[in-house]
Amino acid sequence: MAHAFIGFGGNIGDARQSITDAIVCLAQHIQIHIVNKSCFYQSAPVNAVGGDYINAVVEIDTELNPYGLLYVCQSIEHQFGRERPYANAPRTLDLDILFYEGIEQNHSELTIPHPRIAERSFVILPLLEICPDFFLPNHGPLKNLLPNIAHQRITRITCKHCDCDQQLH
Ligand code: AMP
Repeated sequence: MAHAFIGFGGNIGDARQSITDAIVCLAQHIQIHIVNKSCFYQSAPVNAVGGDYINAVVEIDTELNPYGLLYVCQSIEHQFGRERPYANAPRTLDLDILFYEGIEQNHSELTIPHPRIAERSFVILPLLEICPDFFLPNHGPLKNLLPNIAHQRITRITCKHCDCDQQLH
């Protein structure tokens, strides 16, 4: 069983509902066990066009290998109508493998840890919310990267289950 983190994002349609439903799809997979889920966040597009994104991060335990997990993530994207007309196009749903325990590789099909974690507030903030001591290989404690992304516009979306109103940065 390996520990992994998946990032979710979308900016077409009801992205919050799409992410909620996609997490249910993930949870229904017999070899994936949801350990924790962040709040939803609303973020400005980074190097992309379109409206604001909704994002969340989920922590899982899985018996799938990294490529099996990628296949499941891409199948879920496909189910939700994800198309890739051009790089960084607006999307109904995007799933990224952010981290997979014990794996560090740089292949175009699958790079782990995800190569853009360090520059994205919409990954760093939800990841720190559920794993405050997350250590990013080749960077160090994730919380040390907060000053680098302090200029990026992002808000945590209020929900009834948690204390969402606390200061983000
Ligand atoms: P995107 O358009 O951001 O969804 O990128 C999808 C492409 O990135 C696919 O071809 C994947 O094979 C590749 N990829 C590389 N590393 C990862 C990763 N850690 N998680 C998800 N997709 C990845």
